[in-house]
Parts: sequence; C-alpha cells; structure tokens
Amino acid sequence: MVAAILSQLPPRLQTLVREIETAAGSEIDVQRKPDLEFGAVANIIWGDERNGYFPNAPKMLVWYRGPGLAEADINYQDPWAVLSHELLHLWRYTVLKVPAVLAIVGIPQEITTESTRTFCSGGIEEIPEHLWIERQLQAWYGYPLRHSILASWDSVPTPPWLVDRANLYRWKLQFEWIKTELLTDDATTKQRAVAVMARVGLLESARTLTSILGLLADSPDQIGAKYGSIFALCMVLRIPLEAVRFLNRGPGSETHVPMPSNFVVPTAAGEVRFSYTPRWDYNTLIGNMNAVLMAEGQAFCLLTGAKIC
Ligand SMILES: [Zn+2]
Repeated sequence: MVAAILSQLPPRLQTLVREIETAAGSEIDVQRKPDLEFGAVANIIWGDERNGYFPNAPKMLVWYRGPGLAEADINYQDPWAVLSHELLHLWRYTVLKVPAVLAIVGIPQEITTESTRTFCSGGIEEIPEHLWIERQLQAWYGYPLRHSILASWDSVPTPPWLVDRANLYRWKLQFEWIKTELLTDDATTKQRAVAVMARVGLLESARTLTSILGLLADSPDQIGAKYGSIFALCMVLRIPLEAVRFLNRGPGSETHVPMPSNFVVPTAAGEVRFSYTPRWDYNTLIGNMNAVLMAEGQAFCLLTGAKIC
C-alpha cells in the first residue's frame, strides 16, 4: 500500500496491512471507484493459475466508493469498519491461509445481483468468511449486530411453495437464519425466525447448522473450521461434497483440492469430527455424510442432535 494511504489508517489497520503484505509478498493496491455498488470490495488474483498452481505473488486490490477511505456504511457505525472488513478478507486468505471454495459443480460461481447472490458458490464461500469477520469487527468496534431484520421473516410465504422454487426458498431461509442466529442481536427478530422456521419445517436442521457454524467460527484452527463450515452447509443445503473444489493456499498452493474425507476441528465445546464416504446419489439426494461433536466425553450427531455413545 502506498505510504500516503497507509499513513492515514488507524494503527490497528496499519498492522493488518503489514501482516497481509508480508505474508502475500506483494502490496495492496487501493483505488477509489465512485460508481461501486457496495461501500468497498477486496479482491485477490492468485498469480498464474494456468497449470493449476499459483507460483507468483498475488495481486491484491481494494476498491472503495468514497469520498474518503473512512466511509461509514449502513451496517457499520464506525468510519473505519468498512475498510477493516475488506482487509480482514485479505488477512484470512493470506496470513491464516484459509482455503476458499473455488467451484461447486452444477452451481454458478458468481451471481452479482444482491438478491440472488445467495444461490452461487461464491455466496456459500462468503458465509464462513463473514461469520468470522463480522464477529471480529464487533469485538473491535462494539456496535450491535443486525445482519437480519424483522421484515425478512415477515415476508416468508407459507408452504407449499411453487415446486421449482422450493429449493431456492430453503436456501434463502437457511442463509437468513444464519445471519439471524449468529449475526443479529435483536431478540424480536430471533423469536420471529424461530416461529417461521418451525412453520416451514426447517427449524431442526437450521439449529443444527448454526450450532456447528457458531462453534467453528470461534475455533483456533481456522483452516479446519473453513472445511467444516462448508461441510455443514453442504449437508443442510443438500450439495454433494464431491462437487466442491477448494483453492488451498497452504504448502504447494495447489488448486482444485477436494473436501477432506476425514478431519477433526477443535472447538470450545470439544472436537468436531467430520467424515464422509464419496457416494452421493443424485436421485435420492442421500449421501454418506456425518459430523460428530465430541463434548465432555460424549458424542452427538450434528444432523439429528442424538447422543451417539
Ligand atoms: Zn465481505
């Protein structure tokens, strides 16, 4: 980042920039784009990917709408929170080296309009990233979390939904539920969400999903937590794990890495164990996936909540 811009930033963000640039081996390029749809956006271009490897230092971009770098956004009370959000995206990918969903076979990679952004692999990738980033921002700036509002829950239509839209409603509701349960403080919105999810028959799977995502967001192992979060999302959204390919920025910087078939993630409540056997049946939408929470010497199945031993 050029010195004239870096020197404007609060000390915390200057430290963040230095850590990112040291880990990545390249500088962050900051540019103003007055016609940007959002307050700011960060992007990483990972070197030369033609042969499936990323040997070069990445190119990192931060675009902001302006007029100044410290612009407040509708969700953020603190003037530096928007830029902090974008830098934390870069920090997780370069310093923590969390894997990213590169592609999900059969699902579009990116849909740019906000209303449909949910239904693409980029939208799934963003969920665990934002759960971690928004909680970090709350710890730094202390403003209330309000990523879901009552109106979202008051506008849910009563089933049966039109058949060709049923999956989209299920996805949309689970995404809204995650924001409500984990990124919203308002008690009325939370209560309304429980009532609606019970009414449409999704409450049990929704609670399973957010219990595991909440534990993983606070895990000291953010690489394992990222794989686990995508695993849990795929389980609930009925996406075959074999369809998911990750960009792994660890040693070797390999791309197109499949979901690990057996792994353990430490959390405050105990170890969460993930395992699956690649055997997805597209006709019945039944796979062989399981996630088990080991807590206080007991094991609980995260799909059903049942005690295993
Ligand atoms: Zn973001």
